[in-house]
Amino acid sequence: MTQEQWKAIAAKDRKADGQFWYALQGGRTFCRPSCRTKSPRAEQILIFSSCQEAVRAGYRPCRVCRPDQMDWRGSRTEIAHRAKNYMEDHMLEKFSLQTMADALHTDGSYLLKIFHEETGHTLLWFHREIRIREACEMLENTDASVAEIASMLGFSTPALFSRVFAQMRGVSPRAYRKKHAESENSDQEAFIL
Ligand SMILES: [Zn+2]
Repeated sequence: MTQEQWKAIAAKDRKADGQFWYALQGGRTFCRPSCRTKSPRAEQILIFSSCQEAVRAGYRPCRVCRPDQMDWRGSRTEIAHRAKNYMEDHMLEKFSLQTMADALHTDGSYLLKIFHEETGHTLLWFHREIRIREACEMLENTDASVAEIASMLGFSTPALFSRVFAQMRGVSPRAYRKKHAESENSDQEAFIL
């Protein structure tokens, strides 16, 4: 058992639910970290990394905290993955951290923390990245103006869009479009030759 796991059990921390399960030596049931029916001493605790592992060890799920009925709260990787999907699906809408955390059945500060740990990026970075990726597509394949693209992607002003774009891609949207058009032309010339 790690220090963190012990702290979570002692505090009955719901944020730890889904990350590990535990039983007590000599006991018959296993629980989520937040279960209210147990107040164990550290030396009694056996840690499991999945429900199946606890069942294989001969424990049955506690009737109070129902550790086997919590697939809604997935693993850290799964939560990060679902956060990515959520941001992609809602790319063009305005939403708050709270809205997204609620939709993923987790809490905001926990989501911020594990997303960063799991992906190496902040939520804000990822949210910008998917919209800038979309902007690149539009700059390459449509005639929409920079202001139109900014507005379609939900940036409050074209200036903000250009600033974020330059931060993420190192050039302005206009320079990006020009560079792409030039490289397309030189591809065509190469093809004709
Ligand atoms: Zn329990």
